[in-house]
Amino acid sequence: MSKRSSQPTQIGTSGVEVGMEVTILRSNRVVLNDEVVPAEILISSGTITNILRGGRRTQSHVEKVLDVGDLVVMPGVVDCHVHINEPGRTDWEGYYSATRAAAAGGITTVVDMPLNCIPPTTTLSNFHTKLEKARGQCHVDVAFWGGVIPGNQAELVPMLKAGVLGFKCFLIASGVEEFPHVCCKDLEMVMNELQGTDSVLLFHAEEELDLEANTTEDADPSEYSTFLATRPDSMEVEAIQTISQLCLRYKVRCHVVHLSTAQALPVIREARRKGAPLTVETTHHYLTLAAGHIPPGGTYFKCCPPIRSKNNQEQLWLALRNRDIDMVVSDHSPCTPDLKHLDSGDFLRAWGGISSLQLGLPLFWTSARRRGFSLRDVAELLCKNPAKLSGLGLRKGSLLPGLDADLVIWDPDEEFQVTENMIQHKHKLTPYLGFHLQGKVFATVLRGRLIYMNGKFTSTAQGDTLLVPNKVPGKTAVSYY
Ligand SMILES: [Zn+2]
Repeated sequence: MSKRSSQPTQIGTSGVEVGMEVTILRSNRVVLNDEVVPAEILISSGTITNILRGGRRTQSHVEKVLDVGDLVVMPGVVDCHVHINEPGRTDWEGYYSATRAAAAGGITTVVDMPLNCIPPTTTLSNFHTKLEKARGQCHVDVAFWGGVIPGNQAELVPMLKAGVLGFKCFLIASGVEEFPHVCCKDLEMVMNELQGTDSVLLFHAEEELDLEANTTEDADPSEYSTFLATRPDSMEVEAIQTISQLCLRYKVRCHVVHLSTAQALPVIREARRKGAPLTVETTHHYLTLAAGHIPPGGTYFKCCPPIRSKNNQEQLWLALRNRDIDMVVSDHSPCTPDLKHLDSGDFLRAWGGISSLQLGLPLFWTSARRRGFSLRDVAELLCKNPAKLSGLGLRKGSLLPGLDADLVIWDPDEEFQVTENMIQHKHKLTPYLGFHLQGKVFATVLRGRLIYMNGKFTSTAQGDTLLVPNKVPGKTAVSYY
């Protein structure tokens, strides 16, 4: 697989060790923004200094060359929707285990969601608490979303100046009491607060509707259809209408997290046509799993909004193809197994959240390649666009000189079966156990250092917490980087 060289400094993959700083990475398939080509990536002090397309060049003896032959080299995946849950619910997931799973999955940056940890990231002081917990534990780089809850608008600008990337809010109960949802009045205040900043407001887009009761007393709670009936498409469509109107009125960047229903796509298209700065993500589970295949009692498939029909899924793929959906993320939202109520299999009582961080790249690729998506599509949808949304595009998400040397090295043709043994999340429960996937991650490079290779990790965590102080008009100007 690796090309050999007569020069002793060119070590192929056989003499390479985890922890090594790479100064030249060579592959026959490097995924650049405009093409996939043989190239050498030159790295110095963790940054890409140059990319030489075409054949190999001569190097000096001090260089550490990693030649991976036909393995694909792509920007490290940026997963901007991850619930790490530490502190407060560290028994669900924590920085160490989540970021180790990320490293094994070729993800070099995760953006942590503001809720499910205690305290939630809704004040400057809480943000500092999170940062303290994260430091020294992260295998990959971690950045942070803040949260908007009723009454915390005075905290938003201080959090922005301290380096949160933007904010998330809910239009419906979030599932945890310390992160209440907002109402229209709160949103107007928030929009006023965020106008003129470079920030973005992320929405969990489901609204409670005045519907006829969607569950009947005698419906079986261990049947997935019972749960699905409680969260119809219209709840998402309604919420996305609200968001679109706000976005058009205030021209503050808005982002719909985990779009599940294809029925909202016309609303999104129309808002964008009118100039709304609105972006949309969907998740691996909506693109991979379908309601009809969920077994009775299979509560590890439960998430909100819910996994819908196969037909709906195909429409999401089409929207992704047309870029009506901008990116794909994990929404890794694990919990302790007892909260999934596997004994009763009760979908209505089980925690809503799916654990999948480590598997994002192969999950996406397995389905995407069958539909004609290319490696460049993968890099755009899983790396470049999430980095751009998060305000990290000048450092992450593309292979360009000047950006961090964050790379995933993977084999798009290698198949593997998902086993408990390989899963690095704190808990092994996931709907994907036993799945046969294509696209195996061989190694992960974070700012030039090989942090994962073939099942081995660096002994110490090499990731940083990323703070991106936002420009806030009228306040002391802080540069972006
Ligand atoms: Zn989430």
